[in-house]
Amino acid sequence: MKKSPLQHFKQCLEKRHLYFTSQREEVVRRVLSWKGHFGVDDIYEWARHRGLSVGRSTIYRTLQLMAECNLLEERDFQRGYKVYEVSLGKEKHEHMTCVDCDKVIEFQAPSITQAEKDLMMREGFTPLYHSFVVYGLCDECTAKRSNKEKQKVS
Ligand SMILES: [Zn+2]
Ligand SMILES: [Zn+2]
Repeated sequence: MKKSPLQHFKQCLEKRHLYFTSQREEVVRRVLSWKGHFGVDDIYEWARHRGLSVGRSTIYRTLQLMAECNLLEERDFQRGYKVYEVSLGKEKHEHMTCVDCDKVIEFQAPSITQAEKDLMMREGFTPLYHSFVVYGLCDECTAKRSNKEKQKVS
């Protein structure tokens, strides 16, 4: 039988001689079912509403550990804080992010995968990971900005 992500995480913690409080387990369960991209504050807000007494630093450390145990991937969207997403069951993808509303849009880019393969062949280089993020304006924010421009003119 395949290990559940939660079991995998527990074993990973055991190896580090760390234990698992029931509150932390609740956080981990929620994080594993989180759709999309999130930061420490998103989880903290959820925990507060839930009435859990876990602080930001505990959440931060939990997310770090989940990333080290390969359950989460860290993304850097130049926001001054780390953004995470659940890596299990997701296909390789890249990101676009809106500089006005922080919306994140995922897309597949086979040409990047191909470029990595080419590097390996040509340069004998072994790519481990890459970071490719397109910064811009989503359709809504594009419309909002052009409305503002129109208002200025009239
Ligand atoms: Zn936007
Ligand atoms: Zn993503």
